[in-house]
Amino acid sequence: MKIHNFSAGPSILPASVFEEASRAVLNFTGNGLSILEISHRSKDFIKVMDEAEFLVRKLLHVPEEYAVLFLSGGASTQFFMAPMNLLPEGGKAAYADTGTWAAKAIKEAKIFGTVDVVASSKADNYTYIPKDNPVTSEHQYLHITSNNTIYGTQYHNFPEVAVPLVCDMSSDIFSRPFDISKFDMVYAGAQKNMGPAGTTLVIVKKSALGNTGRTLPAMVDFRNHIENGSMYNTPPVFAIYVSMLVLRWLDNLGGLVEIQKMNEHKAGLLYQEIERNSLFYCPVHVDDRSLMNVNFLLHDNTLEAAFLEHAKSVGCQGIAGHRSVGGFRASIYNAMPVEGVMALIGAMQSFEQQNG
Ligand SMILES: *Cc1c(COP(=O)(O)O)cnc(C)c1O
Repeated sequence: MKIHNFSAGPSILPASVFEEASRAVLNFTGNGLSILEISHRSKDFIKVMDEAEFLVRKLLHVPEEYAVLFLSGGASTQFFMAPMNLLPEGGKAAYADTGTWAAKAIKEAKIFGTVDVVASSKADNYTYIPKDNPVTSEHQYLHITSNNTIYGTQYHNFPEVAVPLVCDMSSDIFSRPFDISKFDMVYAGAQKNMGPAGTTLVIVKKSALGNTGRTLPAMVDFRNHIENGSMYNTPPVFAIYVSMLVLRWLDNLGGLVEIQKMNEHKAGLLYQEIERNSLFYCPVHVDDRSLMNVNFLLHDNTLEAAFLEHAKSVGCQGIAGHRSVGGFRASIYNAMPVEGVMALIGAMQSFEQQNG
């Protein structure tokens, strides 16, 4: 039986990438050396790093005034590296609280300056994206989380504010085009929509750096990583390689305009079924529903275990909702084919016939 992996992260990657990556584990260089054993300073790997950066710039239209870095430590490390590098001593930043990850970013930023939470949907269990972000010129930036992986909400329009945006795009980067010029920094852990766990993409405006008055250890100073082309220390070689393969796959598919259409189509089918099906409902406000993480609940939650079992019996795995939300979450990232979504819809329909 074909398994459809709906996990939120680490998550599905294109099947062709798994095949090519497995070949590279056995023989990457053509003379029998594995990608796992070659030096990060070898010309074979430097080619990988260069192509990864090239593809990020091509797909997202990133101009030269921004640096593209592949770091480690996950998006969670960027929760503190962002304020360390961007927020001046004694400065103020604005944050939008749209979920668990946003709240963690807020907590870390408070170590380095004053944080004003200018918008929050916490009182409503994070079921919508607050649209009003009252920032002032005192704020160095507005930090947002473009897609809230746990709650299934997504910004479909970024806030129009007079300060630069800083954005955690961990779970929807490369899912649609966006205008980088509004951002001082974008970051994303690879393991949702870009590659395997182990590397974090950071895109940062070079002119926004070096203005904090803070002395930083080398490993947490973006300027140091920029000077060293993401190779100040040993980079996560395999994670960067596999991410590069995913970006190549995306580029060959037609890039972000094309993948956005596919993502809209897949999510449209699934939300339509949730609306139609008498057993299920979606708790998220219609305008803010995520195209990446589709949350849904049963009206009769005593059937939860039975539906999980039923979905699994037709190959749909990883749909249990996050423990803080319950219900179900289908993560339908770029690499999820429409066939996977159809299989889940089929499971919802047969479950309705059995239990409706
Ligand atoms: C998963 C996730 C994180 C945490 O990522 P790590 O790489 O595990 O640190 C942060 N933000 C968002 C939006 C996420 O989905």
